[in-house]
Amino acid sequence: MSQSGQKVKYPVSESQKENANVPQTGKTPTLPSGPPGRVVAVIAVGGRSLPVIAVHPQVKLLAATLNADDIAALAARQCYLPGSVLDREGPLPEKTRTRLLGRTISSGHHSVIEHNVFTFGIRGISRACSHQLVRHRIGFSYDQQSQRFVDFTRTEFIEIVVPPNILRRADMLAAFLQPVEASVRSYFALVSAGIAPEDARFTLPNAFETKLVVSANARALLHFFELRTCQRAQWEIRWLANLMLREVRRVAPGIFRFAGPTCVTEGICWERDGRDCPRLSRSGAEWRQRRVAWTAEEGLDVRESGTRADHGS
Ligand SMILES: Cc1cc2nc3c(=O)[nH]c(=O)nc-3n(C[C@H](O)[C@H](O)[C@H](O)COP(=O)(O)OP(=O)(O)OC[C@H]3O[C@@H](n4cnc5c(N)ncnc54)[C@H](O)[C@@H]3O)c2cc1C
Repeated sequence: MSQSGQKVKYPVSESQKENANVPQTGKTPTLPSGPPGRVVAVIAVGGRSLPVIAVHPQVKLLAATLNADDIAALAARQCYLPGSVLDREGPLPEKTRTRLLGRTISSGHHSVIEHNVFTFGIRGISRACSHQLVRHRIGFSYDQQSQRFVDFTRTEFIEIVVPPNILRRADMLAAFLQPVEASVRSYFALVSAGIAPEDARFTLPNAFETKLVVSANARALLHFFELRTCQRAQWEIRWLANLMLREVRRVAPGIFRFAGPTCVTEGICWERDGRDCPRLSRSGAEWRQRRVAWTAEEGLDVRESGTRADHGS
């Protein structure tokens, strides 16, 4: 919806169109033993033929707090209970649990979901993507495949991530692969000359695939999903975030029904360029700009803002 309430179709940017095939929902993936993907090149290096495989994100939930929805609801219940939750027998009735989760989460009382921790195995993402992922500092723990200790000259294939809009165009793909192949050759040459992988890795591109084990609590995840399932997020981390969300919704549907971009959870898009988003018209959300509280020209009127009067100075 536009601000005037009219449904308006906004133009879709080229990169949004190109990456429109990034999955948003679907069945839980089962992880095969090798990397699924497409062989995009074969490099003759170190006396052998080394396939280069274009891979894509894969996520598996490795562990989760047992009965996550119940634990969160119980934590919320304790806040309003004169006695102790220890005196209760059995789980909370479903209706009570749904009501408690709805009330606390939608009002921002998010400490109740910090008790729930989820651990993900992640593969098939680029170093460019993992760099964005690890910017999430609060409530997240990471372990990532080391480029210091893993010697990639010993692997049977090279995994890279190729943006979909490059992967589907032969001319663009050739241009993309040229420096990738050069960097792999350079890496092999350096390592076989006795340079340690920790130094040889400086030649490797952002496209190089990486693997992580990531844990996060539900509160941190809600924040992550809000930012990273938004259409404004970069396509690869958005793809990853959607896979992670799909996993946690299986085990904690009560908590994660509140997860997603604000166009879905609040019916409002706050993004500066949100009017260009294809999801805006689809979701029926309203695009809004944040109000400016103060400008240098106007100054801050403390009487109108109510701060002095309210505090009775
Ligand atoms: C669309 C998009 C574009 C982006 N573009 C860029 C970019 O161009 N360049 C770039 O560098 N990054 C960029 N980022 C990354 C972004 O700035 C954040 O680093 C990232 O999203 C992690 O968010 P966060 O800090 O809220 O998360 P967390 O680190 O998990 O923090 C969670 C919350 O804790 C609080 N918090 C955490 N640390 C502090 C602190 N030190 N002081 C006070 N409060 C704190 C904040 O409320 C914060 O929101 C982008 C992110 C998105 C989603």
